[in-house]
Amino acid sequence: MELRSDIMKNIRVAEPYVPGEQPQHKVIKLNTNENPYPPAPEVERALHMMEGECLRLYPDPAAEALITALAKYHGIKKEQIFVGVGSDDVLAMCFLTFFNSGKPVLFPDITYSFYKVWAELYRIPYECPKLDEDFKINSQDYYKENGGVIFPNPNAPTAIYEDLDFVENILIHNQEVIVIVDEAYIDFAGKSALELTEKYDNLIVVRTFSKSRSMAGMRIGYAVGNPALIGCLNNVKYSVNSYTMNQAALISGVESVKADAYFHETVNKIIETREWAKIRLSELGFVFPDSKANFIFAKHPDYDAKMLFEKLKQHNIYVRYWGSDRIEQYLRITIGTREEMEQLFDVLEKCMEENSEA
Ligand code: PMP
Repeated sequence: MELRSDIMKNIRVAEPYVPGEQPQHKVIKLNTNENPYPPAPEVERALHMMEGECLRLYPDPAAEALITALAKYHGIKKEQIFVGVGSDDVLAMCFLTFFNSGKPVLFPDITYSFYKVWAELYRIPYECPKLDEDFKINSQDYYKENGGVIFPNPNAPTAIYEDLDFVENILIHNQEVIVIVDEAYIDFAGKSALELTEKYDNLIVVRTFSKSRSMAGMRIGYAVGNPALIGCLNNVKYSVNSYTMNQAALISGVESVKADAYFHETVNKIIETREWAKIRLSELGFVFPDSKANFIFAKHPDYDAKMLFEKLKQHNIYVRYWGSDRIEQYLRITIGTREEMEQLFDVLEKCMEENSEA
């Protein structure tokens, strides 16, 4: 039923982000950049040992244990860390806290589509400089007056990683505003911009446990930056919801951070599978920007992306397809296990054979 216009006029209308499908039957799931390996065994053990008693009370609103573990892991002060319910929550808090100048916030035209959703929701003006023909960010597009800058590194869905000189160049040209580097996929890539937070007091680096730490279902993300900026984020958070991090997330997050050997082992396995998958995709004739993430953004010059997406789905293999401007011929394929990727390539090969015979 439609609402009356006099009621409707005072309601905040939002065009929400559309997450990738989470099918409830068993599929080969290569559509939302999850990790194909389970979290560290210590994480599961800690969850099994959780007693009902610890759920009776509110969790620690300051998330002290998790922040202490992260501070130790990164060799930084606790005051430099803000935690939230996945990096989506952290990023939403950053938009609300930092982008209030009334000037347009800048982010690429092809990037994580949630940025636009938050900008619209909070009525923050924004501009989206175009990636170049190779899907690379042109840093000079970010040298003009603006209300803040945000980009992922590696970028999503392109999977292109830029080195620290690139990030620093953007910072040098944007000292008056907050610059956010979304490092959701950095563990599969190269050097992190974390070290630049010591030099630039306007830099916020955002991280997640969802990808490299196999904990998308637990919802843990964090931001690192100057203690004064982190203080501002906390003031906004405590003005919305004090208890964002639940007890299970606090306990299991600490265990994940401590399980460093397991973390490196699984990240390395994914990188190895990615490098092999690049070779296989090239052999099949796909083209793609060089990926430094846990996914590959690929198109085939001779086969329609939507057709491939649908055929794969019929074979219970889910990849991501948007069909939007400039990327209508691209599929984003998450790196699964070697076995899952082998099945993907078998089915792709079959689809391509069937289609060329037609
Ligand atoms: N940033 C980017 C670039 C992403 O691709 C994602 C995953 N959808 C996120 C942030 C959010 O991840 P999460 O909320 O699970 O930490």
